[in-house]
Amino acid sequence: MILNDDELERYARQVVMPEIGEEGQKRLCDSHVAIIGLGGLGAPVIMALAGAGIGRLSLIDDDDVSLSNLNRQFVHNTQTLGLSKIQSAAAFIHSLNPEITLHTHHQRFDAETGPTLLGDVDIVIDCSDLPATRYAVNACCIALQIPLVFGGAVRTDGQVTSFLPADEKSPCFRCLFPEADVEFAQAPSCAQAGILGTTTMVIGALQAAEAIRILIGFGESLCGTLLLYDGLNASFTPIKAQRAPDCSACGHRP
Ligand SMILES: [Zn+2]
Repeated sequence: MILNDDELERYARQVVMPEIGEEGQKRLCDSHVAIIGLGGLGAPVIMALAGAGIGRLSLIDDDDVSLSNLNRQFVHNTQTLGLSKIQSAAAFIHSLNPEITLHTHHQRFDAETGPTLLGDVDIVIDCSDLPATRYAVNACCIALQIPLVFGGAVRTDGQVTSFLPADEKSPCFRCLFPEADVEFAQAPSCAQAGILGTTTMVIGALQAAEAIRILIGFGESLCGTLLLYDGLNASFTPIKAQRAPDCSACGHRP
């Protein structure tokens, strides 16, 4: 017996799956995942990972809950308006699954504090919405050799993939979005362009699924594939995501 009785009952519907079983569940319970950004993408990621029983979650965000968040950020609610997103998300997680150990960091992720924040993390999920944060997360994950699950969403469109720094064929975030990429750097924010809650739910769910896939080691990861979601036409398009040999972030890797 690997899991206790409570764990066996709480996670029964996934433990029964041959791809997971008790061993896979134990792996999830022993895992530590960092979620950077507790907004539109972070919310569904938290819901899925706390429910699935990821044992330790590090939450990193410097923002407070506002009314315009509540069309999509469903770990927050009208009662938590004005609280930090860290406090609000922690309360949600505690009510859903008190077995989860939380490490909360009410701060913006940057290159200076990153290595300390991600020191013993198994996977990082980037749910931030600022290019500067994304590049800092990418550099830190390469340096620490931590798998990084990327997601982005605006209006009805989204994209998701993962980067595995220990895999020599894996691209990194900067391979796909070099800093000179004006289109990405000037991409409209959700405040300007709008965002539908269903878009972030889809992309966040895919990010959480990718993290679970990598942690347990079943199926095929999205590494090497950028999966595009078109919510206007309800379609997914996978495109090849290749490593750029001259990438300034990972080009020096062997
Ligand atoms: Zn790269």
